[in-house]
Amino acid sequence: MAKTGTIGVTTENIFPVIKKFLYSDHEIFLRELVSNAIDATQKLKTLSSFGDFKGELGDMKVRVIVDKEAGTLTISDHGIGMTADDIDKYINQIAFSGAEEFLEKYKDNANAIIGHFGLGFYSAFMVAKKVEINTLSYKEGAEAVRWECDGSPEFTLSASDKTERGTDIILHIDDDNKEFLEQSRVDALLKKYCRFLPVPVVSGKEQEWKDGKMVDTDRDKVVNITEPAWTKKPAELTDEDYRNFYHELYPGQDDPLFWIHLNVDYPFTLTGILYFPKIKNNFEVTKNRIQLYCNQVFVTDSVEGVVPEFMMLLQGVLDSPDIPLNVSRSYLQSDSAVKKISSYITKKVASRLEELFKADRSEFEQKWDDIKIFIEYGMLTDEKFCDAAMKFDLLKDTESKFFTIDEYKELIAHAQTDKDGNIVFLYATDTTAQYTYIKAATDKGYSVLVMDGQLDSHFVGLLEHKIEKSRFVRVDSDVIDNLIPKSDRKAVDLSAVQRDILTALFNSQLPKVDNAQFFVNFEEMGENDAPIVITQNEYMRRMKEMAALQPGMNFYGEMPDSYSLIVNIGNPIVKKVAAAADSALTDKVKPMMDAVNANNDKITALRDAGKDSQLSDDDNKEIDALQAANNASREEQTKVVSDYAATQPIVGQLIDLALLGNGMLRGADLSRFINRSLSLL
Ligand code: ADP
Repeated sequence: MAKTGTIGVTTENIFPVIKKFLYSDHEIFLRELVSNAIDATQKLKTLSSFGDFKGELGDMKVRVIVDKEAGTLTISDHGIGMTADDIDKYINQIAFSGAEEFLEKYKDNANAIIGHFGLGFYSAFMVAKKVEINTLSYKEGAEAVRWECDGSPEFTLSASDKTERGTDIILHIDDDNKEFLEQSRVDALLKKYCRFLPVPVVSGKEQEWKDGKMVDTDRDKVVNITEPAWTKKPAELTDEDYRNFYHELYPGQDDPLFWIHLNVDYPFTLTGILYFPKIKNNFEVTKNRIQLYCNQVFVTDSVEGVVPEFMMLLQGVLDSPDIPLNVSRSYLQSDSAVKKISSYITKKVASRLEELFKADRSEFEQKWDDIKIFIEYGMLTDEKFCDAAMKFDLLKDTESKFFTIDEYKELIAHAQTDKDGNIVFLYATDTTAQYTYIKAATDKGYSVLVMDGQLDSHFVGLLEHKIEKSRFVRVDSDVIDNLIPKSDRKAVDLSAVQRDILTALFNSQLPKVDNAQFFVNFEEMGENDAPIVITQNEYMRRMKEMAALQPGMNFYGEMPDSYSLIVNIGNPIVKKVAAAADSALTDKVKPMMDAVNANNDKITALRDAGKDSQLSDDDNKEIDALQAANNASREEQTKVVSDYAATQPIVGQLIDLALLGNGMLRGADLSRFINRSLSLL
């Protein structure tokens, strides 16, 4: 029956293409061939269960045999085998995929069949200079055949003396790929791709310790677990089983927080278990990622595009024959089945979280700090998840009490609504550093949230957007009455001269703090409030925080931190300082200010007169002279005020006390403060 022929492909010679371009990773040939062997085995089991095969199934293990001397790697199964006709149809005609025909016939029961990889068999030529198929079909009266091909389109088909049912695929490994003749390399590949295949795969022998070294025993080494947890029903599994499987996947990790068992068969097929890991350091996610399987064959652990981005923080396995695997990432993302799968997973994860929250709230709260980053990430990046998570997203206050968003809104609505009807959410990012502000707020009966997570500066913006008529402000971003203004502010009762004198007075005593800028402001906060409060503008601070997380926002990142030094003119000490400055300085400063104002009027008049025509040289000279006089006068004013300030240690003392309260008084400034305090005592 010997025959030769040409493999039926449309391109002149497909082999160079296969060798070079078909698969980026040559090693996957083993996955493909073992999958085919499993496939053939499963098919025979299916036929047997339908009564279409009546013979003995016998030993159905798949074997991978390395023969270094002969230079061959053999994948051997006891599955359905092939007749000469089958080989013609399934192997010689590359475009024809036998799996499809089979699936059509056994649509509902052949789920386990791996028929997904298209040109799977030919991937053997990525590593072999010659491939042989030695096979005997299960069909009654079938004759064994041997197919040989050396990587050219010509093949030979001849009779074989094979007497056992099934197929041996014999690869004559080429010189560039000798690594695949090492048992350890083959074992590593089997561990990677075949660890959870549904039929036992044997590779080499079990070893044991004997006479000071490891030696082969005569027991076959099975490399896989044929029924991994995700293929079972949730009801069959205990928590212990789920945990054990997790540790099987990721040895050396802490126990997972919880898990979600996925199981869908319509409108797509998907099984899997997703675990919420205990993330120890910030983004410890690159290493132990979700693994993607296709009917228990490992495909990849880069699941970008298949699961929503925020789920990359999860671990576990997904198994679906409906994810197209040999396509580019961008195609993957636009594939409608993949979109459905991705949104299904999102929904499922959200509903499982809600279920856990409802079933055992206190446990959920205990785990909150660990899962918070995941939930916030999800809410920030996935609209649908965000909407679902609004029900179980928790807010924590400074007393470590947890609230849902709705609960918290209700809690603060009464006390923390400002004059414009906005509910003001106060938050702290550092409960120690912002202690005085938190205390000022809680003393007033307000509640303060803790927002100290990595994503919280973004998250605050999201909540503001999601919660109608809400405003989030950090407790130290303004004085307490301005954080939640209840009525229009009390007017600050200062004349222009007084304001100028006091501004110059406080400015003259500001210490230089690295990368910080202070602006003096006045507020009437009442006699019981502190004389000076230092606040940081909410908007600028958020911009800077975002800049730190996002490259390309350097503009904000490089700006110094800007603070308001708010002087409470209602405070009795400040009142005293102001009155003393008033009487000591007004007589000197007022005439200077009047002169400056008069000069400014003159400059304006000159400019107005010359508006329609060119200013004359004389006019220009006069304007320059007036401006010079003003500059001199201002310098003089500053000097007068600073000379006076030097005699008033109380001003510097008040500023330093406020800085001290914010942890901003350090080094030389701190020791100067201590000395001044001692001398004042
Ligand atoms: P696919 O598996 O996607 O159909 P392959 O190129 O891997 O594509 O295989 C082509 C066909 O060859 C298979 O569908 C199957 O019918 C047949 N085949 C391959 N390997 C075996 C085997 N070990 N036993 C029986 N048939 C096989």
